[in-house]
Amino acid sequence: MAFPIKLNGIVLRTVNYREYDRMLTLFTQEQGRVEASARGARRPSSKLLAATTQFTLGEFLLNERGGQYYLAGCTVDKTHYALRESPPHLACATLFARLCLEVVQEGESNEGLFVLLLQALAYLEAQFEGIKSLTAAFLLRFLALNGQGLTLRRCVQCAGPLRDARFDFAKGGLACAEHASPQSPPATKEQVFALLRAAQGDRLIPLGPVEGCYQAMRAYTETLLDKQFPAFDYLERLL
Ligand SMILES: [Zn+2]
Repeated sequence: MAFPIKLNGIVLRTVNYREYDRMLTLFTQEQGRVEASARGARRPSSKLLAATTQFTLGEFLLNERGGQYYLAGCTVDKTHYALRESPPHLACATLFARLCLEVVQEGESNEGLFVLLLQALAYLEAQFEGIKSLTAAFLLRFLALNGQGLTLRRCVQCAGPLRDARFDFAKGGLACAEHASPQSPPATKEQVFALLRAAQGDRLIPLGPVEGCYQAMRAYTETLLDKQFPAFDYLERLL
């Protein structure tokens, strides 16, 4: 029998099946998305219970048989348990996990997104109050890592300098005063710089409370991914 493999990852989703079993979707550093079956994980005596809970981060030990992974053990690094103490924070974490599920591919490491998710969960676990600001910043980085970043350093239409810039999400970035559509929300310089940092630095920095930014980023994300995510509605009802 082959030796088990070790993968560092986080549980994005769990689905119960049969009486005691659980299917996991892991986001691993080494291999991106990995589906693994955890046999007997829901028995009260199971040592795998913590390892098979959503948002658990750790080193997962997997056996492969017939093209299918089976969870053999896990060294838990973090359970992110504090997320469960606040419904809005948990809903936001669930939204981020849902978005990761949409883009993380099997066999493809996505280190940037892995780091982004962990940074976002750290804010949420600390009960960070600006959930919409955090979400807007997360979406900016998420789309940039997905090759769908907003053009933020020059006018999205004429490539000219950004004097009196406005957001123009329909065009995919900031537009100069001449090219912004009349319905574009205005953006002050401070807010633009915050957006630039959030979108292009390595660290996730929640945006200031930019009015309309969260809604615009949600609409932009759903347009680019060509999908509606009910997790946004669920989160908004809790805020
Ligand atoms: Zn322009």
